Amino acid sequence: MASQPSLFISHGAPDLVLQDIPASNFLRALGRHLPRPRAVVVASAHWTGAGIEVGGDPRPDTIHDFGGFAPELHRMRYPAPGDPALAARVVDALAAAGLPARTSARGLDHGVWVPLALLFPGAEVPVVPLSVQPGLDGAHHLAVGRALAGLRDEGVLVVGSGAATHNLGELMPGVEQAPSWVADFDDWAVARAGAGDGAALADWQRQGPQARRNHPTPEHWLPLLVAQGAGGGAPGRLLHRSTTWGVLRMTMLGFGGGLDAEVLP
Ligand code: ZN
Repeated sequence: MASQPSLFISHGAPDLVLQDIPASNFLRALGRHLPRPRAVVVASAHWTGAGIEVGGDPRPDTIHDFGGFAPELHRMRYPAPGDPALAARVVDALAAAGLPARTSARGLDHGVWVPLALLFPGAEVPVVPLSVQPGLDGAHHLAVGRALAGLRDEGVLVVGSGAATHNLGELMPGVEQAPSWVADFDDWAVARAGAGDGAALADWQRQGPQARRNHPTPEHWLPLLVAQGAGGGAPGRLLHRSTTWGVLRMTMLGFGGGLDAEVLP
């Protein structure tokens, strides 16, 4: 089984899955080019709590944790199977790293199923969702990722699904050019990821330019740290970057194996 990378995916708005824009088209193409994983573990910005939870449902529901979008989106299902055995192994790997976690019967929120519906539209790859802990710091989330790095050698794709920038209070509908306070933060993040500098990324609130304006709350940033940690220290490659709603950078990064130039779209 080919080694898998870890990915950071900016998932944008839930209707990304219905759209024909650079970010959605990139994910569709990436899914066709990646070596097919045995399973995927997705740390989602939309599953938050005080402790680490790992979804162990063998048939996870599709959660429509949003409102006001097209009926077609609210009807969509992503019927990928779960993988309870892998969920148990994730809990064990976290425990071995001193990170207590527990399994739960959680379904797939849109931070999980929207990117996967673009990457693997056949819903054939088993999925294990993973929560993030907004009350804990960046170093914690790097450690969560590091604990999962070994799974990549067994063909498990690790994904952090969040947003490179995420100020929903300053959305600019229809604007595809990011203002400088968004672009500067994203440029900083891409440069630090490219240098393999997980410590700087984990210290984003101090080191990132206008970090609190770009992330008024931390939950969409934390999946990037999980992906960086799961990359095992490999430099992050910028796979895609575009902008939606003016302030949402759709930055996608890849860490580690399986991302040779010839397989990238
Ligand atoms: Zn989101």
